[in-house]
Amino acid sequence: MNRFQQIADLESRYLIPTYARYPLCIVRGKGVYVFDDKGNRYIDFIGGIGVNALGHGHPRMVRTMREQAAKVIHISNLYYSEYQGLLAQKLARVSGLDRAFFSNSGTEAIEGALKLARLAGHRAGGPGKHRVVALKGSYHGRSYGAMSLTGQGKYTEGFEPLVPGVEHVERNDMEGLRAAVNGDTCAIVMEPIFGEGGIRECSPEFLQLARGLADEYRAALVFDEIQCGLGRTGKMFAYQRAGVTPDILAIAKPIAGGVPLGAFLAKEEFSSAIHAGQHGSTFGGGPLACRLALEYLSILEEENLLARAAAIGDYMQQQFRELAKSRSAIRDVRGAGCMQAIELDFPARPLVEEGLIAGVLFNVTQDVVIRLLPAFLLEEKQVDKLVRVLKKLLGKKRAKLA
Ligand SMILES: *Cc1c(COP(=O)(O)O)cnc(C)c1O
Repeated sequence: MNRFQQIADLESRYLIPTYARYPLCIVRGKGVYVFDDKGNRYIDFIGGIGVNALGHGHPRMVRTMREQAAKVIHISNLYYSEYQGLLAQKLARVSGLDRAFFSNSGTEAIEGALKLARLAGHRAGGPGKHRVVALKGSYHGRSYGAMSLTGQGKYTEGFEPLVPGVEHVERNDMEGLRAAVNGDTCAIVMEPIFGEGGIRECSPEFLQLARGLADEYRAALVFDEIQCGLGRTGKMFAYQRAGVTPDILAIAKPIAGGVPLGAFLAKEEFSSAIHAGQHGSTFGGGPLACRLALEYLSILEEENLLARAAAIGDYMQQQFRELAKSRSAIRDVRGAGCMQAIELDFPARPLVEEGLIAGVLFNVTQDVVIRLLPAFLLEEKQVDKLVRVLKKLLGKKRAKLA
């Protein structure tokens, strides 16, 4: 039996079967490339689902990790450490919010955000002010709170009862949002750009309406920028493109270069609703993760990576639009910066597997949407290779279907 088969068999024997993995074992990465157990090289257009914004093995991240690992990795939140305050300050400056709480994942960031919104709601309007408005088709994570906010039945079926008090409205449905928000609402939760939901944007008008309603009813406007935030769209946060600032913001994926770290940020008006002992984490905000996050943010600035993400994003979109002219299976091309989608008229998983064989990694979401979340360091020649591969595969697909 070959080594790959051994690895796959062991997992199928001992893992709780929650993942439908692609047949690839990645053993190493360098920049936008990853390498499998046989030494084959792939261009990585999915970046660990939007985590590896600096690619793999960025020299400054590696150096920082080595240095800090030798100093101290974990101390718990019983004590002060050198980097949590610095990171919170930096995040406050770039987001326009005031304070941060550090978690280990996006899900936990959302969970904390929801808890804070409920506390602030109760303070402002008593126990009845606990209702949450979220969006259909959204994705916020897998814990009970985050799953209850997620507006897709496939993630919640069988797990009921969910957290009560959540109502879902359609993205960009202005009337629906107006009708759903009232004095009992403690939070309006949305991804400014849906990630798992297929790279679909909330319109600036919709975000502005949500801001207005949150102000009117003293509810928290909560943005989930776990996937679209921290530079991916070419702005530090996607909400900055619409000129709308949330009261509470959840972030995670790329922030510490692949070491687990998430956070929720809040305006003082909301963060003041919580006191010591009401929320916490053993691992969250450890010195290794926080120092790496500071390094990540410095690298974004010093290597001018927001501009780079925007520029390579424009190039991707232009090339995909060109491709769509000759490949009628492409229904839509959309996205911003290093968050792009190509929507097809057939389920795309087989295409992902054929892409693997051709040396390009991407994934599919919502069955028919090819999702690209590459490193901001991506170059045009690598995009060109992806386009050549897709052109060939989509040509073949059409022939097969015909
Ligand atoms: C990935 C993601 C989450 C969940 O984050 P985890 O780190 O997987 O827990 C929540 N919201 C959005 C928008 C995400 O993309």
